[in-house]
Amino acid sequence: MNALAPQLVIISGPSGAGKSTVLRTLLGRCPLPLQLSVSATTRAPRPGEQDGVDYFFLTPEEFGRRREQGQFLECKEVYGRGHWYGTLASQVATGLEAGKWVILEIDVEGAKAVIEQRPEAITIFVHPGSMTELERRLRDRGTETEESIRRRLEVAACEMAAKGLYRHEVINHELEQAADQICRILSNDSSLNHDSTVPGPN
Ligand code: ADP
Ligand code: 5GP
Repeated sequence: MNALAPQLVIISGPSGAGKSTVLRTLLGRCPLPLQLSVSATTRAPRPGEQDGVDYFFLTPEEFGRRREQGQFLECKEVYGRGHWYGTLASQVATGLEAGKWVILEIDVEGAKAVIEQRPEAITIFVHPGSMTELERRLRDRGTETEESIRRRLEVAACEMAAKGLYRHEVINHELEQAADQICRILSNDSSLNHDSTVPGPN
C-alpha cells in the first residue's frame, strides 16, 4: 500500500475524554493531509459551535429525510435520548477523493458499523485513563447538565469495554503527547499492508 494513500481514520472514546481537543491539536502538529469529517446531529449547538464546522445541525425531520435517502455511512441515536448523530457518506467520499485522510470522530456503535463496511480504516480509541478523570473533565467543560453527565458516565463504562475493537489505544494524559502519538500511529499504520479482517474484541 502506498504510504501516502488517503486513509479513513476512526477515533472513538468516551464523551469528555478530550477527543475534539486532541484532534484540534493534531491538525496543527501533524504533517499528514488530515481532514475532520463534519457529522450531522439533531442536538442543539453548544455556545460557540458553528453549523457546517462543528456539525451540520439538522432538525429531526431533516435528519430522518436524509437517513431515508441513504445519505449516511452510519447513523445512531447516541445516549438514548432522541439525539441522532450520523456520518455523511459525501463527507468521506469527497475528502478521500481530494487525497485527504478523513477522520471520523464517532461513537463505538457508529465505529462498528463503519468497520464492517471499511475494515481497512485505522481505528484509535482515546480515553483519559480513569473514570474519575473523565468525570472531572466533563464537569470542568461545563457544557452538560447533571443528568447528561450521569448518562455520559454510564455510557462511558460500556464504551471502555469496547476498546479492544480498535487497533490502537491512546491515553490522553497530556494533550500534545496524545496528539503526537496519534500522528505517529497514522504514519506507521498506513504503511502496513492490512488484510480485510475485522479486528475482534480482546
Ligand atoms: P470529547 O470531545 O472527548 O467529548 P473534549 O475535547 O470536549 O472531549 O474535552 C473535554 C474536556 O477535557 C475539555 O474541557 C477539555 O479542555 C479537557 N481536556 C482535553 N484534553 C485534556 C488533557 N489532556 N488534560 C486535561 N484536560 C483535557
Ligand atoms: P457531542 O454531543 O459531545 O458532540 O458528541 C457525543 C457523542 O457523539 C460522541 O461520543 C461522538 O463521538 C459521537 N458522535 C459524533 N458524531 C457522530 C457520528 O457522526 N456518528 C456517531 N455514531 N457518533 C457520533
